[in-house]
Amino acid sequence: MTYIPADNRYASMTYRRCGRSGLKLPVISLGLWHNFGSITPFGVQQELLRTAFDNGITHFDLANNYGPPYGEAERNFGMHMLRDWKPHRDELILSTKAGYDMWEGPYGDFGSRKYLIASLNQSLKRMNVEYVDIFYHHRPDPETPIEETAGALEQILRSGKALYVGISNYNAVQTEAMVKALGSLSTHLLIHQPSYSMFNRWIEQPMEGAGSLQDVLRREGVGCICFAPLQNGLLTTKYIGGIPADSRAAHDPRYLKPSDITEEKIAKVCALNEIASRRGQALSQMALAWVLRDEVVTTALIGASRPSQIIENVKALDAAPFTAEELAQIEAILMS
Ligand code: NDP
Repeated sequence: MTYIPADNRYASMTYRRCGRSGLKLPVISLGLWHNFGSITPFGVQQELLRTAFDNGITHFDLANNYGPPYGEAERNFGMHMLRDWKPHRDELILSTKAGYDMWEGPYGDFGSRKYLIASLNQSLKRMNVEYVDIFYHHRPDPETPIEETAGALEQILRSGKALYVGISNYNAVQTEAMVKALGSLSTHLLIHQPSYSMFNRWIEQPMEGAGSLQDVLRREGVGCICFAPLQNGLLTTKYIGGIPADSRAAHDPRYLKPSDITEEKIAKVCALNEIASRRGQALSQMALAWVLRDEVVTTALIGASRPSQIIENVKALDAAPFTAEELAQIEAILMS
């Protein structure tokens, strides 16, 4: 059936400006790392994308190696593009990335000009689009000169195959270096994609000579899209009573190992859940509101295995802003 998006799709979502740029992103974005490969039925994927857009999520995030197998999430998205999204292309912000191992040999990994440009060309074909809105270098490369990686990103912009460029998994010092390398080419770094959640706060920690990653992003006017804000689902109530058979920890334990779901973590989850209940929201919603509490974070990049999770998560900012007392209580739990 032809997809007709909900009329009121822009009514309740908040859109934040992405650093010092003209681009606004929804405070909740949807990632296609899980649940868009060969294992998930096409109809489930379609429902996830449609539910997201119907609820104001205008940003879908991909990478060359999302699957399984590698490339499959982009290939599937390319089919969704033809079926549902062509008429809505200008309402969407699509991103992809290259930086991890993608194909065999010396040209399918890290940060050379050869790899980034070849990979983006492949991604565009798989996704059935002429350009992506954001192209990322997925991780820092310890060997390729940063000027070459920056030059490749700038070349990609000039070619029109991406409208903005970003980086992911770079620390504060590496980010500062990329800002400078791009700046010398008169190019602005739009966005950084780091991991960040209540249980993973590395972006707040200062590094010698640069401050924290958050400091660098604020100072340089770079937006921030934080991935895994629910810590792969751990920052929800789903694991309180054990590991459900239909959860990520049960069916894909590479990134959320059952051994990571310790009694100590579950005790924290329960204590956090009590605060969330007092605030009148689900724990998932509070965990998302928490990463968004400082506007240096533009958007929280969630994953979802079913539409109901998206519907719950988009309401993250519906509750009142955190009081100083609530933030202190959360801090005490996280530091305990
Ligand atoms: P999350 O921390 O949001 O985890 C998502 C998972 O949590 C879902 O698949 C679902 O798992 C569970 N979940 C989500 N909402 C709810 C809810 N309301 N109630 C209960 N369970 C819920 O993020 P991801 O780890 O999926 O990462 C998100 C995106 O970030 C990726 O798709 C990708 O785009 C990006 N990313 C980027 C990386 C990088 O290096 N740049 C690395 C990793 C991710 P289930 O139901 O299956 O248990």
